[in-house]
Amino acid sequence: MTRDPRYDILFEPVKIGPVTARNRFYQVPHCNGMGRTFPSSMAAMRGVKAEGGWAVVSTEQIDIHPTSDITGATEGRMWSDQDVPYLARMCDAVHEHDSLALIELTHNGKFASNSYSREVPIFPSHMPVVGNNPVQARAMDKADIRDYRRWHLEAVKRSKQAGFDIVCCYAAHNLSLAGQFMLPRYNQRTDEYGGSLENRVRLFREIMEDAKEAVGDTMGVVARFAVDELRGAEGMEWEKEGREIIEMLAELPDLWDVNVAEWHNDSVTSRFAEEGFQEPFIAFVKSVTTKPVVAVGRYTTPDRMVSLIKNGVMDMIGAARPSIADPFLPKKIEEGRIEDIRECIGCNICVGWDALMAPMRCTQNPTKGEEWRKGWHPERIPEKTADESVLIIGAGPAGLEAARAAGERGYNVTLAEADEELGGRVAREARLPGLSAWGRVRDYRVYQIQQMANVEVFPASRLTAEQVLEFGADHIAIATGSHWRKDGYGRIHQFPIPGLSDAQVLTPDDVMAGVVPAGPVIVYDDDHYYMGGIVAEKLRGDGLDVTLVTSDPVVSSWTSINLEQHRIQAHVLGLGIEVLANHKLHRVAGQAVELACVFSERVTTLEAASIVMVTSRLPDAALFDELDADQARLKEAGSPSLRRIGDCYGPATIAAAVYEGHRFARELGTEPEDIPYKRELTELADEFALP
Ligand code: ADP
Ligand code: SF4
Repeated sequence: MTRDPRYDILFEPVKIGPVTARNRFYQVPHCNGMGRTFPSSMAAMRGVKAEGGWAVVSTEQIDIHPTSDITGATEGRMWSDQDVPYLARMCDAVHEHDSLALIELTHNGKFASNSYSREVPIFPSHMPVVGNNPVQARAMDKADIRDYRRWHLEAVKRSKQAGFDIVCCYAAHNLSLAGQFMLPRYNQRTDEYGGSLENRVRLFREIMEDAKEAVGDTMGVVARFAVDELRGAEGMEWEKEGREIIEMLAELPDLWDVNVAEWHNDSVTSRFAEEGFQEPFIAFVKSVTTKPVVAVGRYTTPDRMVSLIKNGVMDMIGAARPSIADPFLPKKIEEGRIEDIRECIGCNICVGWDALMAPMRCTQNPTKGEEWRKGWHPERIPEKTADESVLIIGAGPAGLEAARAAGERGYNVTLAEADEELGGRVAREARLPGLSAWGRVRDYRVYQIQQMANVEVFPASRLTAEQVLEFGADHIAIATGSHWRKDGYGRIHQFPIPGLSDAQVLTPDDVMAGVVPAGPVIVYDDDHYYMGGIVAEKLRGDGLDVTLVTSDPVVSSWTSINLEQHRIQAHVLGLGIEVLANHKLHRVAGQAVELACVFSERVTTLEAASIVMVTSRLPDAALFDELDADQARLKEAGSPSLRRIGDCYGPATIAAAVYEGHRFARELGTEPEDIPYKRELTELADEFALP
């Protein structure tokens, strides 16, 4: 296939100071839960992106000194020469595919409480650290400022030594001293680093000048700056100081990487922001600098990218999440295969896993984080080991991915789905308010499967155990999903709730099937992910009076790790949904629903005609159990392998179901080890021949 000439512009080279990016695709810095803790995984993951066509491949944030110690988080460090080799490995992986390696250097200021280094945190002014730790950052004196510049410069020089092509001076997301000095609410200084805008910007200017002087002849120097904080006059505003700062420093860096702060505004979930949501804030930047500009906006569509370049909004297409969901996005455009792009769904599971301090996971890309430890490549999969057939029952995310990946391996695959519609829970959930982008999980896989002559799909085909055995496949995967339970068992309740059997009780499955219960309705959330909040929103949209009761202190509490809890809570309240936090379901007596405070056990009674229980799920494993129970019949049917995958095995995230489907296909014809991956520390121990 050849590329559509309309997209040629995306493959023009871009000069970034003394270095040249081979095209306009720029993977902006992003955390990944690997960093220095899982450095081999991190290097391999970055290498795959370079292979997939990203001309610039960046690190996550790299701290420059022990006073910027965010231990726990698995980001990078460039504290001393000791940090050079692991980062050099990433550079090698990126250079292998002719891309440029970029390092984002930062000092976290009051975002670092220095629990490992035990240093006193530093900041423009005296202020408590972020995160409720009983620690205060102290105001930097002149010697501290000199030290900070020296540490930054030393880190720049070490970056060059490691092999990086570009150094990024960071003043975005409120996560870096250089940016924190700019903000009057943080900077109460009266010296030449405080007061006027020029003074507040001085440090950012100085670290860039230092970097240019030291390495500017061979390395690109990038300014990464948040032009707006979306907090009105209290913070940076793009029409005011945001613009003035770019005007002041316009020609100093070799490229401007611009966005909005904080991280939760930069990486908004698709539930709350569309592709290109940052354009109103950053569109002015190109008019005040001649240097190339890169920005992000969860861009996945090449036509949109072309128009951004042609309309002078940006010179390079920045991406974190789209490059995670599809590391080969540029290559697919280049090769004229845009239908093959695996578009990010904006769910922020990737962000969540970084917050969990574990290697990043992606709903759309099951190989993310597995590049090194399992050797999984996002675009290559080993051929089948034998001419065998595979029957997959259930076309939710697990079944669809299993069919796609097994089909790609060359197996003869049959996928049977009880419903007319493919997609399982993804099809249902994508119809909930704000979640339509999640349908991409289904769309990508259905399209891929349609291209494969060796994969046959049978919708509207609910298979019985008899039919499964009659089919005579060599391998059977049961991907029949799960259902929400009605009996109250969840996180807090591990016992039946008195009176529940007499009430009108529904589950999210009923709501997604279109049942509108009688109002007023209580949505009882003892699950704490998105479903409670979104079911409440759906029912409010149906015109009901809704009270959302949750056993946690806030609505949809787990979503704080994927950056959307505050938005969900504000949205729910804005819709007129009553919220009762820290309460559990105690007893139901007709329409009187008794709720007990989780701390005091004090009971509050609410009148409700119905209750929607969002508590936990049970696997739909009847088909598996029936097949598994009769080994003799299985033997008669030729002893096929039999596995459960996805929610039918263990109800979890959509990302987990996709991963399990992929894993099933990868493991066909293999004998997986008990620990089916390499571990970084064990490898190291091997290397040093420890006893
Ligand atoms: P997962 O997240 O694990 O992929 P889902 O709940 O999304 O699970 O999907 C399970 C799918 O399996 C649903 O679309 C359901 O209709 C289908 N299914 C359940 N039982 C059968 C069966 N006996 N035959 C065919 N399809 C089935
Ligand atoms: Fe996009 Fe979700 Fe993957 Fe993150 S986890 S890259 S938001 S699809």
